[in-house]
Amino acid sequence: MTVFVYAEAKGDTVATSTLENLTKARELGDTVEAIYAGSNADAIAATLGEYGVAKVHALDTGDVLPGAIMAAALPEIVQTGDLMIFATSYDGRDVAARFSARTDAPIISNVVGITPGDDIQFETAIFGASKIVQTSFRTDKTKIALTRPKSFTAESSGGSPAEVATISMPETGAAGQAKILESHEEELEGPKLEEAAVVVSGGRGLGGAEHYSLVEKVAGTIGAATGASRAIVDAGWVPYSKQVGQTGKTVKPDVYIALGISGAMQHMVGMKHSKSIIAINKDPEAPIHAIADLGIVGDVHRVVPQLIEALEAKNS
Ligand SMILES: Cc1cc2nc3c(=O)[nH]c(=O)nc-3n(C[C@H](O)[C@H](O)[C@H](O)COP(=O)(O)OP(=O)(O)OC[C@H]3O[C@@H](n4cnc5c(N)ncnc54)[C@H](O)[C@@H]3O)c2cc1C
Repeated sequence: MTVFVYAEAKGDTVATSTLENLTKARELGDTVEAIYAGSNADAIAATLGEYGVAKVHALDTGDVLPGAIMAAALPEIVQTGDLMIFATSYDGRDVAARFSARTDAPIISNVVGITPGDDIQFETAIFGASKIVQTSFRTDKTKIALTRPKSFTAESSGGSPAEVATISMPETGAAGQAKILESHEEELEGPKLEEAAVVVSGGRGLGGAEHYSLVEKVAGTIGAATGASRAIVDAGWVPYSKQVGQTGKTVKPDVYIALGISGAMQHMVGMKHSKSIIAINKDPEAPIHAIADLGIVGDVHRVVPQLIEALEAKNS
């Protein structure tokens, strides 16, 4: 069986989610190949090869959204019985869903684990990740899995650059004409939330948008990224790009510091695999304390300024 991974890149840097999926793909198939929409396949072929890709099938879709085009091109490349793995990204979901609709190939989303074997088992998280379900495909068709970020650890296997095979442009009609007119870079101060070694997040317990500065100050003193619960995103205190959880970002830092966050299951699903969790919450019964390695029962307005002082003293 060949395992195809839908590869994504920003400039010449391959997305971490692609590297995670490639690492898992190596355990599952006889051969790993990649599908890529972009003009710089030659530039990323070395990285893809290092992560086990023998061949990358590439198509330059220019300023047209890749979804309809790639879904129309894939049936020429992917064979019945193969497995395709996509990250849960905008393009990944678009291509996977369109390919599934075109070919009637079954799709499983929200995958957090894949166990190799004759009958590959897919783990999916349900009820806010409080339950894990094992599923396998009973079909001869191509199988499609959409994975959640950070489900696998990216590890290079040290292979040589992947061969680049150019896909010919398929006929798509109007569906393949949706163009990207503008794109905006998210403004970022400090490290990227999904990739930071330390994340400091704030919740409704901060008491108001003006107190989010406590989160920023702690983060600033230790070079951490800043995150948030959905409650304070919905309240307009911080932008959605900071939201951690089921409908936000998944993070897996070395240290996650939660300030005034209750630990609802929808929040925890996005951060509970952090190596160490520190929680400051005045309610000893708050669920976040149950998963915290260090739980401080106290008022953020008393504890956090002292924490900042101690960190600043240590830095000076
Ligand atoms: C479909 C769905 C998807 C969702 N997706 C997400 C998601 O992606 N991410 C997410 O975060 N949520 C998500 N939610 C919302 C989630 O259920 C919770 O409502 C949300 O996480 C609560 O945010 P919070 O912990 O900041 O607020 P609260 O639940 O209000 O908790 C505030 C906490 O602060 C503590 N506190 C209060 N004052 C202080 C103080 N002075 N000092 C210290 N502690 C204090 C309180 O004890 C309390 O535990 C989702 C919900 C649904 C239904």
